[in-house]
Amino acid sequence: MKYVYPFSDIEEAEQHVGGGWGEVRALLGGKGANLAEMTRLGIPVPPGFTITTEACIAYLIHGGFPLGMWEETLKSLKELETETGKRFGDRENPLLVSCRSGAKFSMPGMMDTVLNIGLNNETVRGLAQLTGDERFAYDSYRRLLQMFGAVVMGIPDEPFEEVITAYRDKRGVETDAELAVEDWQGITERFKEIIKEETRRDFPADPIEQLKLAIEAVFKSWSGNRAVDYRNAAGIPHDLGTAVNIQTMVFGNLGQDSGTGVCTTRNISTGEQVLEGDYLLNAQGEDVVAGIRRTKPIAELAGEMPRAYAAIEETCRKLEEHYREVQDVEFTVERGKLWLLQTRNSKRTAQAAVRIAVEMSEEGMISREEAVLRVTPEQVDFFLHPQFDLHAKEATGKAGNLLATGLNVSPGAAVGAVAFDADLAKRWSEEGRGVIMVRPETKPDDVHGMLAARGILTSRGGQTSHAALVARQFGKPAVVGCAALAIDLERRQMKVNRRVIKEGDPISIDGTTGEVFAGEIKTVVPDIKDPYLIELLSWADGFRRLGVWANADYPRDAERARDYGAEGIGLCRTEHMFFEEERLPIVQRMILSSEERQAALDKLLPFQRSDFAGLFRAMDGLPVIIRLLDPPLHEFLPGYEELLVEVTELRLKGDDPDLLAEKEHMLRAVGVMREANPMLGLRGVRLGIHMPEVTKMQVRAIFEAACDCVKEGVDVHPEVMIPLVGHVNELREQRTALEEVAKRVMEERGVEVDYKFGTMIEIPRAALTADEIAGVAQFFSFGTNDLTQTVFGISRDDAEAGFLREYQEKRILPDNPFATLDIAGVGKLMEMTVRLGRQTRPDLEIGLCGEHGGDPKSILFCHQIGLNYVSCSPFRVPIARLAAAQAALKEY
Ligand code: ADP
Ligand code: MG
Ligand code: MG
Repeated sequence: MKYVYPFSDIEEAEQHVGGGWGEVRALLGGKGANLAEMTRLGIPVPPGFTITTEACIAYLIHGGFPLGMWEETLKSLKELETETGKRFGDRENPLLVSCRSGAKFSMPGMMDTVLNIGLNNETVRGLAQLTGDERFAYDSYRRLLQMFGAVVMGIPDEPFEEVITAYRDKRGVETDAELAVEDWQGITERFKEIIKEETRRDFPADPIEQLKLAIEAVFKSWSGNRAVDYRNAAGIPHDLGTAVNIQTMVFGNLGQDSGTGVCTTRNISTGEQVLEGDYLLNAQGEDVVAGIRRTKPIAELAGEMPRAYAAIEETCRKLEEHYREVQDVEFTVERGKLWLLQTRNSKRTAQAAVRIAVEMSEEGMISREEAVLRVTPEQVDFFLHPQFDLHAKEATGKAGNLLATGLNVSPGAAVGAVAFDADLAKRWSEEGRGVIMVRPETKPDDVHGMLAARGILTSRGGQTSHAALVARQFGKPAVVGCAALAIDLERRQMKVNRRVIKEGDPISIDGTTGEVFAGEIKTVVPDIKDPYLIELLSWADGFRRLGVWANADYPRDAERARDYGAEGIGLCRTEHMFFEEERLPIVQRMILSSEERQAALDKLLPFQRSDFAGLFRAMDGLPVIIRLLDPPLHEFLPGYEELLVEVTELRLKGDDPDLLAEKEHMLRAVGVMREANPMLGLRGVRLGIHMPEVTKMQVRAIFEAACDCVKEGVDVHPEVMIPLVGHVNELREQRTALEEVAKRVMEERGVEVDYKFGTMIEIPRAALTADEIAGVAQFFSFGTNDLTQTVFGISRDDAEAGFLREYQEKRILPDNPFATLDIAGVGKLMEMTVRLGRQTRPDLEIGLCGEHGGDPKSILFCHQIGLNYVSCSPFRVPIARLAAAQAALKEY
């Protein structure tokens, strides 16, 4: 077994693992592997060696160094001495090293690094002589004592910092830089006393002892609470272990010709191709990140140290070319010479990710395929929602205006006045006021207010609550389940941490992070018209085979969908048109009285016709699937319980017999229609068969609109979709009745319309008999919401409000099956449906409509089983375009 690899010998590590870069990183940790790789590239890296993660794992299991590891370490240390011409513990020419942790995946919470190992009361003098800088030597020494105290001996930073503060006060100076040699000498003495007081042990003067203890401390830090918590949160396995890097110290604090800094090879906020970062002259590494001194932007280094700056630029270019990724580097300049101390792939904002991917591809560094694979669907989502100006948000938070944090269920930023009910939200926003609708939770009755509001905030509910679903569907920023809000609807106010927010007060919510602020924060709108995004998505379109359509009920939604790249409407829900204010009374009359039914339908017809014509015009040249009426009729009527209360009250008061009679009539009608399981009751095709006048009216409206549009020169492709079919005979019956209407309308208007007639697949029996159904249907569209409900035998509303969350917490279900397709169950049925359907009708068009159509994991599956398209909310169209391309690219 070999446990120690010098940076200069990455080949040996490669041989040991017999694998690629991933394995080397697993063995040496990300930091170690990259230090070795940079050394191989000829980039100046202070020499050193890596003790492997395997050694760490062995240490943690056996409670001691594995056999041979320490000897190997000492041997590598000797080689380091030869290479640097210095000696560890030498009074005249001491070698100093750092001991740095580094796991396979970067874990920014751990930070267990000890610098300047090798200093003691004697070597510190050697260092002073060697550098001619006594002040520097004692400053380095106290840093060792402080870091060693923290990392190895577990002493908090405060007692040390108190000492330094006391010295600054005593000297009447503001910064550490103004403290003199004697001060630092005094400070080191005090630090040693603190170590003794806190641990009853002396600081080990023996450098070898220091090294050994530091290595052990880094190993142990892997199983410390902090690291375990971080890994749990980040989903990093616990059995990887951390490597330890022992590296010769270089000093950025040797005067004005030295310095240290961090930079990224491009701007990671905007993606612009310029170095971006901070540095400090005359400082050591941790000073930059610690934020104690004001850093300077890296561009200024070009003026202060032109040669070093040029070297950094060249190194960054080299690193990018080699890794083919934007790098985040740490560097130190020691007396004019540049040293690299770390490099890794850098994090970036969504905007930067897109621009970087596109530009790197245009520069020839990566292919277009890689560019498309590098941007995540979530990053595309970012472009569709307003965001807070980061500086403004930070300032607001610092000013103490962060009220609370809830669940970040629908991304984007929203600012507005608090409104505690839907009607008020709607009224205010009609008056031109921006509104945030705040409720304990929301119900279907609240939708008009939610649509009018800029954002939605609730104190209850989870990822799948009504508020969350509606918000995502309509692209409204939303924070839900914010338990810290004590909403008092009576007094029209809410209390948050003793602060009272009244109705009308301004608040700002961040649906991307879940934060809620008092007051208004400036927002910026990242643009879906971002030229880099447009370019990237156009490349994606070239790679994908799955079509992307959108669900839209209104022409304005259809226009947006098309703008975002939708290639058709996969679902228009006609019932939304029935709910509109002026139409609802007509719809109720149609339901309640068979005598008035036809008259009511005649009134609805022109409304529907103009709705459909609007859609056809917006989608000129593209298919539009219109689903006939689906929900149970009682949804258009007042609730039974509500009516019962009203009738009872009217009876008791006895002062309005007319109203009482009307309500009693309504109550009887609603009572007759009441169903125990409306979800499984009289709805969809069953309703169409039971009350054929309704669907006939809808088909007439569709074809009249289509014919009119054809006459205007619009290229229309209507597809009539029958919901909830379980038996082929249901579909046959409806098709015969409805096609007759269609033919009649086309004859009346003298126009031929290119149309299709098909069905949703949302009942398991339809899936099981897809071969029969395909004999009558020209297209299938999976209604995966109902299909999931019926395959699982659960009702979504009840499940999401109750046991489904428990199932996820207990890991009985990995995902919410209503958000991500249940591939093993529902997916299997879909796969079979596709096979059976195409057996009967090879050119059968098959799509999916419903929320799953905007979920990347579900999209991948739809691609794999050969669907023609997915249809999702307009706001998710760009995301689906990218996800569909990635699905195609991942095939190879
Ligand atoms: P982290 O993972 O917290 O960044 P590092 O191990 O990278 O911890 O080290 C912390 C700081 O110390 C960094 O700024 C790094 O550049 C600096 N540093 C580490 N080793 C050396 C060294 N041998 N010489 C000079 N500076 C070093
Ligand atoms: Mg670092
Ligand atoms: Mg359905």
